[in-house]
Amino acid sequence: MRIVTAMMKHETNTFSPVPSDLRRFAQRGLRRDAEALDAYTGTNTPLGAYIDALREAGAEIVLPLAAEAPPSGLVHRDAYETMAGAIVDAVAAGCDAVMLDLHGAMVAEHLDDGEGTLLERIRAAAPGIPVCVALDMHCNLTARMVAHCDVMVGYKTYPHVDMRAAGAQAARILLGKLAGRCDPVMAWGAVPLLAQTLRMGTADAPMKELQEAARAAERGPILAATLFGGFPLADIHDAGVSAVVVADRALAAAEELRDRLLAAAWANRAEFVYAHRDLAATVAAAARLQNSIPSGRPAILLDHADNVASGGTSDVMTVIAEVLRQDLPDVAMAAVHDPAAVARMQAVGVGARVVLDLGGRSEMPSIGARPAPLRVSGTVAHLGDGRWRIEGPMYTGLIGDTGPTAVLDTGRMKIVVVSLHHEPFDLGIFTANGIDPRAQRYLLLKSRIHYRAGFAPLASETFTCDGAGVTTSDNAQLVFRNVRRPIYPLDPM
Ligand SMILES: [Zn+2]
Repeated sequence: MRIVTAMMKHETNTFSPVPSDLRRFAQRGLRRDAEALDAYTGTNTPLGAYIDALREAGAEIVLPLAAEAPPSGLVHRDAYETMAGAIVDAVAAGCDAVMLDLHGAMVAEHLDDGEGTLLERIRAAAPGIPVCVALDMHCNLTARMVAHCDVMVGYKTYPHVDMRAAGAQAARILLGKLAGRCDPVMAWGAVPLLAQTLRMGTADAPMKELQEAARAAERGPILAATLFGGFPLADIHDAGVSAVVVADRALAAAEELRDRLLAAAWANRAEFVYAHRDLAATVAAAARLQNSIPSGRPAILLDHADNVASGGTSDVMTVIAEVLRQDLPDVAMAAVHDPAAVARMQAVGVGARVVLDLGGRSEMPSIGARPAPLRVSGTVAHLGDGRWRIEGPMYTGLIGDTGPTAVLDTGRMKIVVVSLHHEPFDLGIFTANGIDPRAQRYLLLKSRIHYRAGFAPLASETFTCDGAGVTTSDNAQLVFRNVRRPIYPLDPM
């Protein structure tokens, strides 16, 4: 049994100015064959689960591509065609089945439905070959995607700590089909709801209850039940909340469950919309706490409008400026993307005093924002290569990589300055750079929900700070032209 397995992942923020070219994929790793097998074996990813399942089944593994880039703008045409082409060519060379690790919200310069197009091409190259797909909870599901595969399973956690479990579940169903143990059928649908990612954390209502309902329904003929929150920062026709249910022959049961999941999501639609808060007032509330923060349990400030894991530039200085203005003590911050500032600090060396115009490098035409660096002075506290092995619950086993990295200590705030985009979801972004996160009073993170994977266990309080950036949760700042209308909350429904 010869099985093609591959990973091609990107969450495309169509409002993001960050270019998604082949180089960006290569920075996180664009691997093939034995190198891909090595990098992903034993990791908390769908691909890691596929590799284990295929080895256990004694299958011949063909792994033409494992590529993922942090979320950013439209995927360049040549990057898409190079990656998709590698997978389609491997399938066309002959195989018995295909197992894919995809995101579900990839938009390229020349096509809106990155995953649907890939699956359609795979089907055309090998008609009738069984295909399973593991998908991110922020998948924007399309009819084309469903039409060209047999099994779909999405993550049920956000932060995504069950990536491996979703892959294992998809693999189990597909291998069952190949062995004649089951005959999967799928029902899917969507509701006109552009839910906001900030309101999708699975520790909170309403996603907690919705995902528990999906999990509880997976018994009897129901092989997999997925409710996708969707990715709202994608101005494409099909963005939004959807569901897909895989059943063993029992299509009516799958349809009934799909309807039930979607109705429950729709009934909670108002809960999926974030209410804007005043930035200065939020930081002031955090400042008032400063003498009552328990030792070893920092308070967390979230700069969620500029988070890497939704396509942020990670160089907007609005929240950092406000925290410095209100003079909060003992703050560690991750991370500002500014390779030029890192180079400056490397040139002067650890211990040297510097004055920097930090961050604020990016033009953000989609929200009408111009570059706005922040003048800061301090001491270079650390220089490093920005690499560590991730030990936290998300992407466990993979290498975290922020490229050449420096820490600027202003006296009140230690700022981790990086050369490669990286969401702070793992403690390593501090510990690899000489900072003990538990020893701080405040951690200022450019993150929305994923920080919870590594940081929730040590947080005493969390403050959601509404800064600026292309991952804003304020729809009034974004112009939607392509998403289907009417859709809640853009339209009153
Ligand atoms: Zn996601």
